Amino acid sequence: MNAPAPLAAVTPSLAALPFIEKWVSFASVSRDSNLPLLDWTEAYLNGLGISCSRTYDDSGKKANLWATLPAHDGQTKTGGIVLSGHTDVVPVDGQPWDTDPFQVSIQGDKMFGRGVTDMKSFGATALMMVPELLKRQLKRPVHLAFSYDEEVGCIGVRRLIADIQAQGFKPAGCIVGEPTGMQVVIAHKGKHAYKTTVHGFEAHSSLTPQGVNAVEIACEFVAHLKSLHRELVAHGPFDPIYDVPHTTVHTGVIAGGTALNIIPRQCEVTWEIRHHHLNTPEALFANAKAFADSLVPAMQAVSPGTGFTHELKSVLPGFATAADSEIAQLCFDCAQLDPANGVGKVSFGTEAALFAQAGVPTIVCGPGHIAQAHQPNEWVTLEQLAWCERFMRRLADRLCVN
Ligand SMILES: [Zn+2]
Repeated sequence: MNAPAPLAAVTPSLAALPFIEKWVSFASVSRDSNLPLLDWTEAYLNGLGISCSRTYDDSGKKANLWATLPAHDGQTKTGGIVLSGHTDVVPVDGQPWDTDPFQVSIQGDKMFGRGVTDMKSFGATALMMVPELLKRQLKRPVHLAFSYDEEVGCIGVRRLIADIQAQGFKPAGCIVGEPTGMQVVIAHKGKHAYKTTVHGFEAHSSLTPQGVNAVEIACEFVAHLKSLHRELVAHGPFDPIYDVPHTTVHTGVIAGGTALNIIPRQCEVTWEIRHHHLNTPEALFANAKAFADSLVPAMQAVSPGTGFTHELKSVLPGFATAADSEIAQLCFDCAQLDPANGVGKVSFGTEAALFAQAGVPTIVCGPGHIAQAHQPNEWVTLEQLAWCERFMRRLADRLCVN
């Protein structure tokens, strides 16, 4: 790669650039503290007369930041629009980056850096807009919601949502700026993650009839999960607006056994169901469990203590907001998209589901594409960043008095 050109010279029209540059410079990897990023952000907002509140994790090393720009009549609690994003990023360990991941660089029509797509650019662009929103006076409140630990299971935002509910905030809508290519995403799939443990019975490998081979039984279970998946691929139900139009069943990790000459006593399978609104994960899980149960009599005929345990490890709900809802219409308008073809549904999960679950009509719309997220040399096009700025300026036109 060539040496990056001075940023301001390349992109004189991107007002958000210094903010994106600043946010990317904080290496707020999920396992580390995000407090330096929050301290900087809070100081900036305080300097504009906006106070912030935080909700911390148990360690006190990470926090969410919540800030409200009041309406011109002083209203803060009701009818506001939330601009939401996570501050954490995935690690860069072991990835072959060509540039410093925590320093944005621009090459041609792309900006590189960890988080430029997922998802610091949206929050940074929102911050850039704050002085203008205040100067032009708001008809309704605007809230900024910046969370921690999204990348490890949407952990942080749950505390933020509980806190704002306890404080009596009733926003009218929320825009989560995850990368959608600036399309208006009105739904995403939900995810149930499971750990299934096969409890077998150890014996010398020469005595297979006297043991219960947990690894082999786990493989039968995984093969059944795969058959469930194939059934969904072949017969749906389908929702054609999704990039992957059917529910999926996937095994991510399998671990068991200690040595070739020992019949394995235990094997763990970590798997997931990602479902759209036409499937219920409970029914798919029940099918998988029934298959496991059908194997148990033969296992217990050899050794009574054998069998399966299933743990539901995490649940991320799906969400679906009506395309004709106020928040969706506002976003189509700001993104300058025709609702007929600018609408999207995606298979990846976001914090949107948790805002929606809390009763806040929510859509996902942000610059960049999920395909570049989590990658080495993560990039976003300058065109996407400019689109995001246009979106924010049109939002200001619609939310401001002047
Ligand atoms: Zn993200």
